[in-house]
Amino acid sequence: MARGEVLVNQELCKECSLCITACPHNVLRIGKSMNTKGYHPVEAFAPERCTGCTLCAVMCPDVVLTVRRKSPERK
Ligand code: SF4
Ligand code: SF4
Repeated sequence: MARGEVLVNQELCKECSLCITACPHNVLRIGKSMNTKGYHPVEAFAPERCTGCTLCAVMCPDVVLTVRRKSPERK
């Protein structure tokens, strides 16, 4: 189960791919949709692999990404 969730502010993304390179778990890719500036924003195509490490958000020069960490489920 995913330990993190990445939220993308689609309008701010410039498709530079720095976050994709930074992610150690291959969660992100360039999406197919286009924003009003003509860029294709990133998307989390494998969200179940996200650990919530925040490396992608730290790497993004335009503060596009927000990472939510999920609490472990209690048994
Ligand atoms: S928080 Fe970490 S694991 Fe999740 S998408 Fe970002 S870099 Fe990848
Ligand atoms: S680093 Fe930021 S601007 Fe670059 S592709 Fe990723 S989300 Fe978009």
